[in-house]
Amino acid sequence: TITIGVLALQGGVAEHLSLLRKAAATIATSEFQFTFIEVRTTDQLAQCDALIIPGGESTTMAIVARRLGLLDPLRQFVKIDCKPVWGTCAGLVMLAEEASATKQGGQELVGGLDVRVLRNRYGTQIQSFVADLKLPFLGGDAEPPFRGVFIRAPVVEEIMTSSSARTSKQAVGEGQVDGEGKKSTPVEVLGVFQNTEASTGGADEDIVAVRQHNVFGTSFHPELTDDVRIHVWWLKQVLDAVRHKNLVVRAV
Ligand code: GLN
Repeated sequence: TITIGVLALQGGVAEHLSLLRKAAATIATSEFQFTFIEVRTTDQLAQCDALIIPGGESTTMAIVARRLGLLDPLRQFVKIDCKPVWGTCAGLVMLAEEASATKQGGQELVGGLDVRVLRNRYGTQIQSFVADLKLPFLGGDAEPPFRGVFIRAPVVEEIMTSSSARTSKQAVGEGQVDGEGKKSTPVEVLGVFQNTEASTGGADEDIVAVRQHNVFGTSFHPELTDDVRIHVWWLKQVLDAVRHKNLVVRAV
């Protein structure tokens, strides 16, 4: 049995569980069976082979996680055990090493992705929107675009080098080898949003999906659609990871 947890401190938990179940039903594997659980305790986290951190409010999530003694176990899960983890929206914020546009004093993060995210990139709740995204990792061009639901969404504003000062911009696809297996895997950009709204300023291409080794993050909310494709893709990544105990098999 492969146990997939959804961190259930706050946010879109039920939606993920429901789409995970639908996605699992489309994956034929006689080898494994999926079990899905809500995670609120360290014991529940310890049962998980993989985890989703849902959307919601990352500051609240961090405060609750700290109170429940989950922050360090989460860091261990992501960075030391290197189990597959997917964060959507606030979950992506949690999985970033740094977050900007954060109130004074900052906020605690789990980390795992060598990126800095810009929170609330598109403004407040009323500036939420849906946009068609081309996500090549889902397959060829024949695929219909994915309906990206953006709600107070963060974007990846910078991909950091893992060992050096985290100030310089790094070309996508370059990795740093620093002796630690995970860190030698570069951050991959898996999805961008062509931002045509001049009002949001800045770059016209926003990074909205990234992966680094075992950690996957999306700015948008696939769990708020009926489209199971990303959940199916991720479950297959989890299957691979469980099979090979290494999500990205790479010659370093
Ligand atoms: N703006 C929220 C945060 O920074 C994320 C919003 C969401 O998950 N829909 O945590």
